[in-house]
Amino acid sequence: MTIQAVIFDWGGTLTPWHDVDHEALWLEVCSRHYPATRASVLATAALAAERELWLLGEQAHQSATLSQVFSRAGVLASAELLASYFEAWDPHTFTDTEAIPVLTELRRRGIKVGVLSNTMWPREAHERIFGRDKLSSLIDGAVYSSEIPWVKPHPEAFRAAMAAVGVTDPASCVFVGDRPYDDVHGAKSAGMRAVLMANSSVPAYDGSSPDAVITRLSELLGHIEAW
Ligand SMILES: [Mg+2]
Repeated sequence: MTIQAVIFDWGGTLTPWHDVDHEALWLEVCSRHYPATRASVLATAALAAERELWLLGEQAHQSATLSQVFSRAGVLASAELLASYFEAWDPHTFTDTEAIPVLTELRRRGIKVGVLSNTMWPREAHERIFGRDKLSSLIDGAVYSSEIPWVKPHPEAFRAAMAAVGVTDPASCVFVGDRPYDDVHGAKSAGMRAVLMANSSVPAYDGSSPDAVITRLSELLGHIEAW
């Protein structure tokens, strides 16, 4: 079977894993726009809303959006507050230095490159980051769960990613991700090969075994060559 597409998870895979203190981040964002007491109340509400919506993804595989977080929390998502929010996230979004050479090589081999991210952020937020890090021209298609009803591991999320890169046979796709359940189990259940990027502190899952385990993106190329 010739590999036709490699589809990447984003956080912890195309970006190195970061532990992010969501509570501190929300407080920092709200504090820039509200007096201390109000900022603290809003940050707590935003954190709770964000957790509830992530849980919906984990338990029911339903997607959510950042707009839903803000409306649940009663935080007015002004342009200024949104700018502060993404600015606070910026240090955690930098692309792995091996991504450009690996994606370039995959495309040189005629392999499509895709992205499938469980994310509440809108497409523009991700595209801005890919633009900043000079990745945009190396990605053939991307699916952000904020734009579809499901999150990984739901098979429809993987089907949407295949459609985005124009591939119809899941057996010709490799999925690369850092989460054993969402990424590896999800991709395997959808009929793809799955590679685990083993650097992240995410929950283990024994239900599916990856076809390969890597600790750096560059290790991917050898495996793909062998398939
Ligand atoms: Mg990830």
